[in-house]
Amino acid sequence: MVIMKFGGTSVGTPENIRLVAQLTAATDEPVMVVLSAMSGTTNSLVEISGYLMQKITCRADEKICLLEKYYLQVVESLFGTDEYRERGSAMVQYHFNYLRTFTQDLFTANEVKCVVAQGELLSTALFQFYLEEQNIPSVLLPALNFIRIDREQEPDQYYIRENLTRELEKYPGTRLFVTQGFICRNAFGEIDNLKRGGSDFTASLIGVALNAKEIIIWTDIDGFHDNDPRYVDKTHPIAELSFDEAAELAYFGAKILHPSTIVPARVAGIPVIIKNTMDPGARGSTISDKPTGIGVKAIAAKDGITAIRIKSGRMLLAYGFMRKVFEIFELYKTPIDMITTSEISVSLTIDDLTHLQQIIDNLSLYGTVEVDHDQTIVCAVGEGITSEPNTAADLFKAIREVPVRMISYGGSQNNISVLIPSKFKKQALNALSAQLFNH
Ligand code: ADP
Ligand code: ASP
Ligand code: MG
Repeated sequence: MVIMKFGGTSVGTPENIRLVAQLTAATDEPVMVVLSAMSGTTNSLVEISGYLMQKITCRADEKICLLEKYYLQVVESLFGTDEYRERGSAMVQYHFNYLRTFTQDLFTANEVKCVVAQGELLSTALFQFYLEEQNIPSVLLPALNFIRIDREQEPDQYYIRENLTRELEKYPGTRLFVTQGFICRNAFGEIDNLKRGGSDFTASLIGVALNAKEIIIWTDIDGFHDNDPRYVDKTHPIAELSFDEAAELAYFGAKILHPSTIVPARVAGIPVIIKNTMDPGARGSTISDKPTGIGVKAIAAKDGITAIRIKSGRMLLAYGFMRKVFEIFELYKTPIDMITTSEISVSLTIDDLTHLQQIIDNLSLYGTVEVDHDQTIVCAVGEGITSEPNTAADLFKAIREVPVRMISYGGSQNNISVLIPSKFKKQALNALSAQLFNH
C-alpha cells in the first residue's frame, strides 16, 4: 500500500481534482488517498466559527452562503454528467444546511470542530463522486471511523491500526481508498482534529498503521526547500533528507510539513516523499533513514515564540532549582522549545500561551520573571553540523546585524538555533541563505 496525501492547493480547483484522480489511478500499488480541504475552505470555516462564537449570526450566514455558492460552481465544472452534477449539488447542500443549523442554536466551543471538519468531508465526497463518474473503482473510508486521539491529544495508534484494518477488510481486492485528512475523534468520541495542517499527520499515521511502502505528500511545490520560499527568493529543493533532519525542520516551523508528521514514519522506517502535484515529473524530496552527509541542509523559522527569563539568587550553586522550574511547565502541560542558563538565571521559550499567567505567577515564587513576546526561533539543520567548525562561524557572521536573544548549540548534532525578535526574521533568513548556500 502507498499513502498519497494531497494538500489544499492540490485539490483546490476542478482541474487539480482531475489531476489528482489521474495520479492516483495510475499507480501500480494499492493506494490510500488522504485529502485536505480545498484551499481556503478551512480558513473560511474558522472565520464562520468565529462569527458564531461571537453570535454575529448574520455574518456567519452570509459567509456560509458565499462558500456554498462557490462549491456549487465547483460541482458545475467538475462533473461531466447531469446525474453527477445533481448528486454533487445535493451533497454540497446537505453539508451547508448542516452548517446553517449552527446559526439557529446556541454555539459551543466543541462545535467549532464540527464546523471546520466540513472542509475535508466536502473535498473527499466530491473526489469520490468524480472517481465514480470516471468509472474508477474506489471506496471512501470515513476517517472518523478510525483516526482517534487520546486524552493527551496524542494519536491512539492501537485504535487506529485495529479500526483501519477492520475497515479495509470489508473491501477485499480494492486498490483505491479515499479518506479525510485532518479530522479525527477524541477520547470522548467527539469530532476533533489534528490541528492546522494536520492532513500530513493523518497520512503518516495511516502509513504506519498499514505498514505502507511509502507516504507521498503531494503539495504545491517541488519538494522540501533549503529555506522558506515565502520569505527568501532563491530557495532550492533538497533531494534527500534524513528523518532526523526533516523532523527538526518541521518542528521548527517549515510549513511544508505538519510538525508531527515525521515522528511516526521515523519510528516505522517508512520513507516520506514530497512531490509537486502540478509537476509530478520533478524529483521532489525523499525523507528516509539514509545518511545524507554532514552539512547544513536547510533553514527554518518558527514564529509566535515567547521567551521567559527567571532570575534568582537562589539558583547560585543550588541543585533542584531547574526541577522546580520544569515542574511548573509540566503542571500546565506547556512544552519548552529552547533553554539557556547562566550563573543566576535561566531563559526558556514556549509557544503555547494558554497558561502563561499561571506559569509566571508560579515562577515568581522563585525569582524575578521577564517575558518577551513576538520572538522567532531560526534554526539551521543538517547532519553533524555542530561538529563542523565553520558552520557556527558562518551562521553568526550572516546574522551579525540581527539582535540575538538566545542561542542553542549542541542540544543535538543536527541543529543550531537562535532566538530573534520576529521583525528580523526575513532579514535573518535571507542572510543565512546567502552565507550558507552561497545564493
Ligand atoms: P498543502 O496545502 O499541500 O499542505 P502547505 O501550504 O501546507 O501545502 O505547504 C506547502 C507550502 O509550504 C509551500 O507552498 C511553501 O510556501 C511553504 N514552505 C515553507 N517552508 C518551506 C520549505 N522549507 N520548503 C518548501 N515549502 C515550504
Ligand atoms: N484543511 C486543514 C487546514 O487547512 C488541514 C490541512 O490542510 O492539512 O489546516
Ligand atoms: Mg499543509
